[in-house]
Amino acid sequence: MTVTEYDSLFIGGRWSKPSTNKVISVMSPSTGLHLGAVPEAVETDVDRAVRAARTAFDSASGWSTWEPARRAAAMVRLADALDARKEEMATRVSAQNGMPISVAGPFEATVPAGLLRYYAGVLQDAHFEEQRQGLPIGTTLVRREPLGVVAAIVPWNFPQVLAFFKMAPALAAGCTLVLKPSPETVLDSYLLAEAIAEAGLPEGVINIVPGGRATGAYLVSHPGVDKVSFTGSTAAGRQIAAACGQLLRPVTLELGGKSAAIILDDADLPGSVDQLFAASLLNNGQTCFASTRILAPRSRYDEVVDFYTTMAESATVGDALDPATQVGPLVSSRQRDRVESYIAKGLNEGARLTAGGARPVGLETGWFVEPTVFADVDNASTIAQEEIFGPVLSIIRYDGDNDAVSIANDSAYGLGGTVWSADPNRALGIAKRIRTGTIGLNGYLPDLTSPYGGMKASGLGRELGPEGLAAFQQFQSIYHP
Ligand code: NAD
Repeated sequence: MTVTEYDSLFIGGRWSKPSTNKVISVMSPSTGLHLGAVPEAVETDVDRAVRAARTAFDSASGWSTWEPARRAAAMVRLADALDARKEEMATRVSAQNGMPISVAGPFEATVPAGLLRYYAGVLQDAHFEEQRQGLPIGTTLVRREPLGVVAAIVPWNFPQVLAFFKMAPALAAGCTLVLKPSPETVLDSYLLAEAIAEAGLPEGVINIVPGGRATGAYLVSHPGVDKVSFTGSTAAGRQIAAACGQLLRPVTLELGGKSAAIILDDADLPGSVDQLFAASLLNNGQTCFASTRILAPRSRYDEVVDFYTTMAESATVGDALDPATQVGPLVSSRQRDRVESYIAKGLNEGARLTAGGARPVGLETGWFVEPTVFADVDNASTIAQEEIFGPVLSIIRYDGDNDAVSIANDSAYGLGGTVWSADPNRALGIAKRIRTGTIGLNGYLPDLTSPYGGMKASGLGRELGPEGLAAFQQFQSIYHP
């Protein structure tokens, strides 16, 4: 990828000078080479961005007042502008965060336009006003209003997809946004800004403030913001929830996970190898919904361990931009340190390492860790309870379906999960007993039309589907007694 340097911020539909000369530099996790730099948005830049979003929202003829069909048409134009940048988008994301390019294409370069078109379609059938017969008397007009200015804060692991989990429904609802990307993935947000400008969205409907934690925290508590939509770690989510609690500000939180893959005793492992790999190791294990606790029945325990060991050892590890790569590098040296510290904890706690555990030979440049498998893991141990966010799997033994359900539920988190079985009804019965917001049968892929989100420490609220649109609306009842 060529080095890409930017010197402006995208605020109010224009490229404007940042208020300081602070910059965010991005380095390739695959090669260690400099990829580019963008200005860092500080408080005064956030003030300008919120003001622009506020004006776009509050104006008497602004975005929120447009007929749904007009908003839908603008969203489809943005989808077209993103489609025209597909290849560059996949390359930028993959080069920055280490996501294999074979994953970046179908996810980062494709899902955002799909979401815009899906919510544009939802607008065609949506009714934002409804007359009701009142009780005891009269009639009432029930209106769904857009919530207002949205602060959208996203992590680096799926930067475009997760931004559009928020932006597509927020735009459909009539909200305006300030998007804060993660410092690790800012270059893709500039490609997005170019698409927004080309699509002719009104000034200030989407504003972008690249920055870190301090910029995010300032945005969350900004008096001009009406709703916070956050995706990231549970630790940051708790701080954001506390800030929003003080302000009584609506907030949606998509947080961490430690999901279970429940392998039932009749599961066809060789027949599901691609699905099993994707469910647990997608994006180098840097996926919030990844099934990283593998629950194996005692009767097939050794076979399951051998299966995952072979899967890990045979995975192609390499430069994220190589189409053959299945497991790329971790996003940063800090993230690699974190993953390696969990591997050390696993060994200290007595788990049996059956694959990986070290840095791959021949990939000394970049932040690589071998796909790693631990067997004989106790579900109470640190590596089974804490989110590692890397290619590290823990295989846990269970005795009977009830034991599998109770181990799967013995977690602070409840975001994803999978059940693997030759019997669809049996798998469904188990899935219904897991305290998790989403779960897949013999595979896992979020469905854009259905609510997505977590229970317990995995979050509050839902994204996607009509429920994701409702997260950016509030009700007004106009009585006519
Ligand atoms: P992070 O919480 O460190 O950062 C996420 C984003 O929030 C970044 O843009 C960061 O700058 C910002 N931020 C951090 N602290 C903040 C604060 N106090 N106030 C405002 N903004 C703040 O997470 P990360 O390391 O970038 O991402 C990995 C985490 O995200 C994992 O825990 C993963 O499970 C989670 N995640 C969840 C989902 C989901 O849908 N539930 C999806 C992807 C990732």
